[in-house]
Amino acid sequence: MSAATRQQRDALARAASDLYRAGLNQGTEGNLSMRTGEGMLITPSGLPWEEIGAGHMVGVDSHGNARGGRPSSEWPLHRAILDARSEIDAVVHTHSSFATTLACLRRGLPPFHYMIAMAGGPDIRCSRYATFGTTALAEAAVEALDGRRACLLANHGLVALGETLDQAVMLALTVEKLCEQYWRACQLGEPVLLTEQDMAEVMERMADYGHAPRSRPPRGDPAP
Ligand code: 13P
Ligand code: ZN
Repeated sequence: MSAATRQQRDALARAASDLYRAGLNQGTEGNLSMRTGEGMLITPSGLPWEEIGAGHMVGVDSHGNARGGRPSSEWPLHRAILDARSEIDAVVHTHSSFATTLACLRRGLPPFHYMIAMAGGPDIRCSRYATFGTTALAEAAVEALDGRRACLLANHGLVALGETLDQAVMLALTVEKLCEQYWRACQLGEPVLLTEQDMAEVMERMADYGHAPRSRPPRGDPAP
């Protein structure tokens, strides 16, 4: 299998920098990956975002063998999601403040705002808790992501998926903002939730809206 291209490394570095500059990740928090011919390309472990460049990205094949450095400790999470979701090619994980605040309360997002549907359904779930870097966390995330493109990770952060890195980054930004809006609304009272019917109508309109992520049919077997 071929190694990641220069273009793929540049794209991952650019997406990592977008998330860092938007304030969603600081220090060494969070990680990003994209599907490649050999398996996936992922950000390195424990390197501050200001120091990370295209040359630090690490290839991990389908057997978990790393090439070119030490992969993010969350590579099992990224691998499990890419394996389970053949319709997406990019995974973003952040410790952004509002998502993490709700995740520490083990609360997901109910349909308090129509933009919740951007994540693929009428709510955004919070996963079970599991230790970072474990296959238990990977399993919990895949479960919470069932039918969705984003979830919160209990006492940890958020995960967003996309057909492209840009889509995954944009969804992470959207979910973080929704978490902030939900948190703020909760300060003033009990947010009024949209009905099942309201959300069904939103989902229908969104299928046709601008550049919203569209469902791509699964490609069958997970990519090698
Ligand atoms: P890495 O630096 O190993 O990617 O870990 C950061 C993180 O967010 C762990 O959950
Ligand atoms: Zn993390």
